[in-house]
Amino acid sequence: ANMQKQALRRLKLLEHQILGIKVNNTSSQQKLKDDNGNYQTIDLLYREGRNKLDWFKEKGWGFKDTEFVIDDKTGKVGLTGDRYVFSGKLMPDFRTWAESKIGIDIDKIAVAQKAMDVDPPTFNEEFLDSLDYNFSRISFDDKERMMHSHGHCLQDVFSLRYGKFKRFVDCVIYPGSTKHVQKIVELANENNVVIVPYGGGTNVTQALELPDDETRMIISLDMTRMNKIKWVDRANMTACIESGIIGSDLNRELEKYDVVLGHEPDSLEFSSLGGWISTKASGMKKNEYGNIEDIVQAITIVTPTGTFERYNQCPRVSHGPELNHFILGSEGNLGVITECVLRVREVPEAKVYGSIVFPDFDSGTKFMREVGRSKIWPASIRLVDNLQFQFAVALKPESDSRWQTILDKIKKFYVLKIKGFDQESMCACTLVFEGTKEKTDKQQTFIYKLAKEYHGMKAGPENGIRGYFLTFVIAYLRDFACNHNYIAESFEASVPWDKMDKLCYNVKDRVYASARNKGVQGFVFVSC
Ligand SMILES: Cc1cc2nc3c(=O)[nH]c(=O)nc-3n(C[C@H](O)[C@H](O)[C@H](O)COP(=O)(O)OP(=O)(O)OC[C@H]3O[C@@H](n4cnc5c(N)ncnc54)[C@H](O)[C@@H]3O)c2cc1C
Repeated sequence: ANMQKQALRRLKLLEHQILGIKVNNTSSQQKLKDDNGNYQTIDLLYREGRNKLDWFKEKGWGFKDTEFVIDDKTGKVGLTGDRYVFSGKLMPDFRTWAESKIGIDIDKIAVAQKAMDVDPPTFNEEFLDSLDYNFSRISFDDKERMMHSHGHCLQDVFSLRYGKFKRFVDCVIYPGSTKHVQKIVELANENNVVIVPYGGGTNVTQALELPDDETRMIISLDMTRMNKIKWVDRANMTACIESGIIGSDLNRELEKYDVVLGHEPDSLEFSSLGGWISTKASGMKKNEYGNIEDIVQAITIVTPTGTFERYNQCPRVSHGPELNHFILGSEGNLGVITECVLRVREVPEAKVYGSIVFPDFDSGTKFMREVGRSKIWPASIRLVDNLQFQFAVALKPESDSRWQTILDKIKKFYVLKIKGFDQESMCACTLVFEGTKEKTDKQQTFIYKLAKEYHGMKAGPENGIRGYFLTFVIAYLRDFACNHNYIAESFEASVPWDKMDKLCYNVKDRVYASARNKGVQGFVFVSC
């Protein structure tokens, strides 16, 4: 029996080697229980910097090296690190704007708790003892358990800073293959253990919140070590990809094959393919590439009653219901998605940013309605109201060149004094055009001509770039606000055109009323 066990371990190592990752030989000898009989973390494929705890913030959003801070010397707000266009820069106007317009008191600091008190885990020994190295890593670490017990809505972040979750996962298992997942699901089923799949943990729907009355052992199945592109079929422009891959890694890897996916939710740097499918995600360039449901062609999902996979190369089948549609948006309730076949596209020949300013939100929405009707759609088009426009302007970083500063002043003078736009009512639209040069040229001509009909004015690519940069740092800004006693959250809604005005008005009204009733002090900032 011993020899058989040893042989099995060797085979597992071989399997991991075939999967192409460096194997940590010593840990494969480790037992799940230490000499004192306590369960211990085992990593069969340890690689430095691989663990999310190494680089992701524990009490908030994003990379550890990136945050909005107050610069000691100037007292201005700046962004640390070097990952983003404006990293390492100060935003000279932001502090004054935040203090005067939204009433943040920058000098008031809200100190977060040192560490959350994590409840001890519940173990199902039969399950754990039968696992038999069918994983890449297993962890009982408290911080890792905490990180896998939440998503990223404000309530989650508030608990991370000041409170405690009702229930924590009891251990985190990282499978390395569909076979691992099948074995883990089978054992969990046999031993009455709960599995919660985990991708990037970025959901904003409390999809990872655990019920406090759950007495069974809960496992977080972290899929991020299943992150390989299995094949790319250029003839049919499809690719088979493991579900744990994180968006930005996926983009980088697909580039090597000269193809793109085009699905880019704002959480792209941290969310996973499996998460996108499970939450039916929408990307900022969906006009060109489609939403996730338009991109997915086949899904492999391991369920308690077996593995479902149905893939044929035909782009469409007419008989029978489309089972993929049941899986899309199922938030981990039906099983564990392990891989899928996606439609990929040629790398676009052209990518052009743009922006337009409108005298008021009403003109902007009317313009958007016409773009919708026209079916001539830029890859991405976003309209923001006056408050959000002011917010974006306040976040403008200092310029490296004196000439640029002078030029900016002239532009501002032109827009406000000559064109007569009012800073207190104007709004902006940001654009990305992607495709062949011919197509993007045509789109730009159409869009800017149409904008003129609604008194819009072309405002240049820099504002477009800044607008899209903001989408990547918005959650960092939320954390900055939290540091100064200000809570912030964003909601996304899909709404028919004829209800749009009402929705904007009613949401604002509801938030103001609620804040009033709850005695919230200071200015309540609601923008869309
Ligand atoms: C700053 C920010 C920006 C965002 N921008 C967007 C956006 O532009 N568009 C958008 O649609 N959403 C956006 N979101 C929400 C979120 O990023 C998406 O819902 C994303 O798809 C979640 O993916 P994830 O990998 O983080 O999933 P997780 O949060 O890890 O999981 C979400 C749910 O899916 C399940 N799940 C995860 N992986 C699997 C799997 N392999 N098999 C089965 N079930 C699984 C989990 O159990 C859970 O129920 C944003 C969130 C933040 C914080």
